[in-house]
Amino acid sequence: MARLTIKGVSKSFGTGFAVNDVSLDVEDGELVCLLGPSGSGKSTLLRMIGGFERPSAGEILIDAKDVTRLPPERRPTGMVFQSHALWTHWNVFDNIAFGLRLRRRPRAEIRERVEQALAMVGLADYGQRMTTQLSGGQQQRVALARSLVLEPKILLLDEPFASLDQHLREHLREEVKDIQSRLGITTLFVTHGQDEALALADRIVVMRDGVMEQVAPPDVIYRAPRTEFVAGFIGSMN
Ligand code: ADP
Ligand code: MG
Repeated sequence: MARLTIKGVSKSFGTGFAVNDVSLDVEDGELVCLLGPSGSGKSTLLRMIGGFERPSAGEILIDAKDVTRLPPERRPTGMVFQSHALWTHWNVFDNIAFGLRLRRRPRAEIRERVEQALAMVGLADYGQRMTTQLSGGQQQRVALARSLVLEPKILLLDEPFASLDQHLREHLREEVKDIQSRLGITTLFVTHGQDEALALADRIVVMRDGVMEQVAPPDVIYRAPRTEFVAGFIGSMN
């Protein structure tokens, strides 16, 4: 059984389809990278999976349960956005603890889980810092920890490292891969970087104009790219 099933999902914003009749099964523990030019519908698709956008048509199932009409907080998903959207008037600990406090978890459990999440993203000693004192990369780590602490079944990453420099991006993507495979957490990762997708993914989805142009493992995409978006990049590597 698939962890995530996307069935004939579309999203229209009135002007046209941002996502147009897309279907995909994602297996438990799989890391799927979504690639495609700007405006191809990657963020809209992820936002629908996370519950931040309601599909115009189609269904989204998680563990065979229809979540299409559930709000984000009632889905077993965690999303990290391109801009981290941390609360600047709270320290790191409180940013990460927020979701657990909403769920009324006991204090001792909150402390333990926040500390675990901080250690996982390499920020064990940063709980008391204000988020404004952190670098861009550290802030994205906090955003990642904030998602992970809720133990989502599906992690949704929407270009989380796009604003960071190349070196840091490569470093963080290795960390994400490491965390992802250690936790075995099903992950959808939207990225601008074809290199990132080829290095990370179990499967790559290449989107264009709201549809999936190619869905295949990296080695297949590398050998037989069906899209200009990827073929051009691979050409430039060789
Ligand atoms: P990507 O993440 O691949 O860059 P998006 O999903 O953000 O693409 O956008 C896909 C299309 O939907 C674009 O044409 C974009 O302008 C449009 N779109 C996205 N969000 C909205 C919105 N809230 N209102 C109107 N149009 C939108
Ligand atoms: Mg986007």
